Amino acid sequence: MINEIKRIFELLQNPDFNISIEEIRQKYGDTYLKSQDEINKLTYEFYKNSKFIPKMTCMYPNCKGNAINSHSIQKALLTRLADETNHIIMFIKEFSHKNRPSAKAERIGIEKDATTFPGLCNFHDSQLFEEIEKKVIDIEDLYHHFLVSYRAVLKENYSKKSSHQRFKNLTEYALSNPTTDEFVISIMIAITRSYFLGMSYTNDVKTLLDTSLLDKNYDSELLFGGRITPKFLPLYLSSMFTPSYDFDGVNINNFNNPNESPNYFILSILPANSQTYVFYSMLKKQESKLGNIFQKLESLNDEDFLHYLSELFLKYAENFVLSPYYWDKFSEDKKSLMLKFFNDTTHNPKIKYNPKLHNIFEFIE
Ligand SMILES: [Zn+2]
Repeated sequence: MINEIKRIFELLQNPDFNISIEEIRQKYGDTYLKSQDEINKLTYEFYKNSKFIPKMTCMYPNCKGNAINSHSIQKALLTRLADETNHIIMFIKEFSHKNRPSAKAERIGIEKDATTFPGLCNFHDSQLFEEIEKKVIDIEDLYHHFLVSYRAVLKENYSKKSSHQRFKNLTEYALSNPTTDEFVISIMIAITRSYFLGMSYTNDVKTLLDTSLLDKNYDSELLFGGRITPKFLPLYLSSMFTPSYDFDGVNINNFNNPNESPNYFILSILPANSQTYVFYSMLKKQESKLGNIFQKLESLNDEDFLHYLSELFLKYAENFVLSPYYWDKFSEDKKSLMLKFFNDTTHNPKIKYNPKLHNIFEFIE
């Protein structure tokens, strides 16, 4: 049995091989169809046991340097968003023995903020983003647009790479232990497989952008959009994600075919002094799928724009920090409703955004 599972595992590592978990279940029968409780328990164990951070080399094209911990958000901005005890708010998904995963708003010291990741070597960490960190951001500048997008792509690619590495190690460990439950292995394979795909597809995006960077041809692959909101939005976001639907309910990504690359939307929110830069971009070759979101965002007045931004943000984005002062303006009820929306839309993107309940910008005047 273990040999057969090993064989499937190897097949799953091959991007040209298309097999779904449903097929594995059909092949191996009810052994794999455990209760949701058991699945929750296992998921919890996996995440608990997978906290180590794999060593990576620098993600700058062709650099082999050792990656150091770099902030995906400038320190000065982080300090500005923090409270007097130097804490910021991040939404964290929690896995529990008993329930489905849930989300909570956690106060995190700015030294430990989870937007930090070992993605670049010392030299590239300071050199690559110098242009947008030391100079005033120019929303008309293609290079600035590019760097903001590239940073989100690096972070997402890193997350998928490190998750894949972790689950691959765990699965190999489980396979080396002949007493491991077959069901455990099947779930591990499923998770490893999904991270493998996420890693491959985000690698593809990064490779395209690496070429734009080296050629200094910043809009060769990406289409850029953005605006300056004349208000300070007390949050920072740098995220590449795969929206399931556009604002009119048209499907963008369905993930049914693992051989089909997902369509990626890149969104960054960078507050500065009394205004906020909102940058978004997509791959030119994915315009037919994502063009609608672009047009919608371009066409809205400032107020509606914030609603749509709030929806995108809570539904799909990761890698953001919020000011605790701002978060505490919401009632406990509102806080739970937003966290619930943030969490539940992960498994069910059809849940409707309600501007009265889920507007993260409610207190922006
Ligand atoms: Zn480097």
